[in-house]
Amino acid sequence: MARYTEAKCKLCRRESQKLFLKGDRCYTDKCAYERRPYAPGGTARMRRKMSDYAVQLREKQKVRRTYGVLEGQFRNYFKRAEAQKGVTGANLLIMLERRLDNVVYRLGFANSRDQARQLVRHGIFKLNGRRVNIPSLLVRPEDVIEVREQSRKVPVIMEAQEVIARRGCPAWLEPDGPAFKGVVKSMPSREDIQQQINEQLIVELYSK
Ligand code: SF4
Repeated sequence: MARYTEAKCKLCRRESQKLFLKGDRCYTDKCAYERRPYAPGGTARMRRKMSDYAVQLREKQKVRRTYGVLEGQFRNYFKRAEAQKGVTGANLLIMLERRLDNVVYRLGFANSRDQARQLVRHGIFKLNGRRVNIPSLLVRPEDVIEVREQSRKVPVIMEAQEVIARRGCPAWLEPDGPAFKGVVKSMPSREDIQQQINEQLIVELYSK
């Protein structure tokens, strides 16, 4: 399975925004973007005027990198979002938000989406009582995500549980840390996604 391996902090600096790719470190003053909030190779004073296309491209890259999705997968999500009723941009974000790896991260069972993806691949979660290992599965309301009993002592899960208070959990999910489980209460809405994203730019990019 292909995945992006470049230094994660560079991605935040490239997108001029914190993408929260490194877990707890992102909330400390060790955050590379807090220290150097400009693109790799540049300086604080370098500012380029970007074309419309470049602005749209950067917005797409930002979202793609936030959720750790490869280009082809991202385009497929877009096609599916377009085919759904409603607003394409919001449909796209909601679909990404429903990915199992994102839900594991949001519930506080992993420090980052990248880590969540690895944990899911290792098969340490159950979805509605059945072992799963596909990070891209889309959850639905009333789904129950649970850490398998034999995996509850995995150190990264214990650590992530300690950090969830700092991050908070969106209202569409209900975490139950002591029971190592979480429930999907409803579909996420666009308002549940707090990160600064202008999804209309992505729609414009793919509509060319
Ligand atoms: Fe981005 Fe986190 Fe690195 Fe900060 S610490 S630059 S938010 S990945």
